[in-house]
Amino acid sequence: MLLRFKMVEAALNHRAVEVKAPAARPSEYFGEKVFGRSVMRKYLDKPTYEALLNTMDNGTPLSLELADSVAAGMRQWALDNGADHYTHWFQPLTGGTAEKHDSFSEPDGKGFVIETFSGKVLAQQEPDASSFPNGGIRNTFEARGYSAWDPTSPAFIVDTTLCIPTVFIAYTGEALDYKVPLLRSISAVDKAATAVCHYFDKSVSSVHTFLGWEQEYFLVDESLWAVRPDLVLTGRTLHGHESAKNQQLEDHYFGAIPTRVINFMKELECECLKLGIPVKTRHNEVAPNQFELAPVYEEANLANDHNQLLMTIMDKIARRHNFRVLLHEKPFKGINGSGKHNNWSLGTDTGVNLFGPGKTPSENLQFITFLVNVIAAVYKHNGLLKASIMSATNSHRLGANEAPPAIISAFLGSQISSVLDKLERSGSDDALRFDAKSVLKMSGVSQIPSILLDNTDRNRTSPFAFTGNRFEFRAVGSSDNCAEAMITLCTAAAEQLTAFKSEVDAKIEQGVKKERAIYETLKRLIKECKVIHFDGNGYSDEWKQEALRRGLDCETSAPLLFDRYLDEQSVKMFGDMGVYNKVELEARTEVKWETYTKKIQIEARVLGDITMNNIIPVASKYEAILLDKAYKMKELGINYDTDLELIKNIQSHTSELQRLVYEMIEARKVANRVENQRQRAILYHDTVEVFFDEIRTHIDRLEEVIDDQLWPLPKYRELLFIK
Ligand code: ADP
Ligand code: MG
Repeated sequence: MLLRFKMVEAALNHRAVEVKAPAARPSEYFGEKVFGRSVMRKYLDKPTYEALLNTMDNGTPLSLELADSVAAGMRQWALDNGADHYTHWFQPLTGGTAEKHDSFSEPDGKGFVIETFSGKVLAQQEPDASSFPNGGIRNTFEARGYSAWDPTSPAFIVDTTLCIPTVFIAYTGEALDYKVPLLRSISAVDKAATAVCHYFDKSVSSVHTFLGWEQEYFLVDESLWAVRPDLVLTGRTLHGHESAKNQQLEDHYFGAIPTRVINFMKELECECLKLGIPVKTRHNEVAPNQFELAPVYEEANLANDHNQLLMTIMDKIARRHNFRVLLHEKPFKGINGSGKHNNWSLGTDTGVNLFGPGKTPSENLQFITFLVNVIAAVYKHNGLLKASIMSATNSHRLGANEAPPAIISAFLGSQISSVLDKLERSGSDDALRFDAKSVLKMSGVSQIPSILLDNTDRNRTSPFAFTGNRFEFRAVGSSDNCAEAMITLCTAAAEQLTAFKSEVDAKIEQGVKKERAIYETLKRLIKECKVIHFDGNGYSDEWKQEALRRGLDCETSAPLLFDRYLDEQSVKMFGDMGVYNKVELEARTEVKWETYTKKIQIEARVLGDITMNNIIPVASKYEAILLDKAYKMKELGINYDTDLELIKNIQSHTSELQRLVYEMIEARKVANRVENQRQRAILYHDTVEVFFDEIRTHIDRLEEVIDDQLWPLPKYRELLFIK
């Protein structure tokens, strides 16, 4: 029997895997695999516990002596919970997470083995990092890199390994990971936002960044996955004729979840809760086999660690259920892709959400201040923000079915829009006779209702939407590390808030009253960044024209977009805010270009192989059968040309395929000879990737006409509907 049918049969035989319901309630096992505060209190002595809390909450450095005590407590807890190894867990620029496991047990030199784990080992390691991407940093400077403990994200146990979240840096201090710049950007926005908060409330001493991600993903049956080389090697289908039924009936979104899938989700959620990931929501997404999982939002650094951890464990658990998880942004043509909405907000240590309307006029002025500054930051760095979510994989999704367009704009909704309009239009007369209360009242600022806003006022086509008490950055890709988007957003907000503060302070120094200084500055900003505001349909062609007229960044080529990181204003922003220096930015863009090239190169090779090894041979076989028939018909003197048309049709597709694959290989050879990473990535984009769609079209046409009994690779209708 054809392998394809065997695998379809195997998939149909995959029954729902039973999951044992945990004996306890989530509230009882939540965080049981985490070295969290309650465990710390149990395993650490009081002075150590208090010192560690001080480090976690206020960043006070921990002495080596105290680190030793923390390590001893952590080791004991880990051993008590079945761990036998430990690892520094970090986020290199390859994407995903990296870990190198070391055993707790060590020979003591006297013929015995003891369990050891010192403060030094907890605090710092020197993984042989030479094979992680570094964009030349460690060639230029010093070959070593080291990982260092991030005490603000608690250690946890996966299987039998204690995982210690760490940063990963070059010996000379440059960041080689996502966590270092994320922490730097969180601290930059903390500083800038706290200073602005002081206009309204002197008691604020810090501002926290919150992130609530929504993870979309596809599931496919493992047996079918295993016989599609494109899924195995690239995470997406490079060919596949559309299924007669896909998402047109809109019957999948929020539909009943198949039992096999529900069982997977239950096990995943249970594991997440044990690891302290506060998962909350699960549902079917729009496309067949597409689902979403979202936790309750957390402090951004922790939330991002949790997302990274989730992506790893989801893959492990899926295998136990005979599934594979596809985190690729566009695994299937013609149906929706997957994103990872980043819900982002800033909150004070006094418990105020700075993007949430308040109860008093002053709180509302504070709210409008933060809102307008964020919009201004997004306006100023819209190209860079787009670069921060751009990748070889996400570029397929942006601008396609149900995904945000490849232009960054901000959606505000009708209520906020009208408040900003009124503020902007309030005449200079009002400003001259400025009386804080009446101007704010007149412009609607003071009356913004505290339970904002018609939550139905949603726009699914906007890449960056205000949703009542937070911003939702919807363009982030499903396989991305959220940090990349968060770093840019936080840094841009920090820079803008800093500039705002200087402008307002300068006015105050000239004798302008505080409220009026704020009001005038806001008014200027609203005017200046108006063009980023767009509440219409982001998918429409008119918007593309309009955005171009407005001067927004409309570039769609990923390699060219990466240049935005090196624009003068980006280098200045990252430098001024202490997030990246020039060397780091150059290194990171190198890595981006290199990764882009490699991904396209792999896809090109896989597509070439599938065409030559699977498609053309099968097409030729079918063609031979038809030829044989036509020949015999003719022998019998029967005049019959229907098959001749079909034969010609198949022949034209196969010869075109051969030509295209050959030309694509030649284009790759030319690109591979180019040393410069940027130039090579541009060539891969402009001269290699351009073949993909054309090759695919011919394969998909052949799929339509060739005998189903011969077709070797699982079809969309088989891949996409889990029974
Ligand atoms: P929707 O699909 O309607 O956007 P979901 O419930 O799927 O909403 O996800 C919303 C996400 O936003 C959740 O992770 C939620 O915790 C998060 N969120 C809610 N309020 C805030 C906030 N103030 N800051 C950051 N994230 C938030
Ligand atoms: Mg959602």
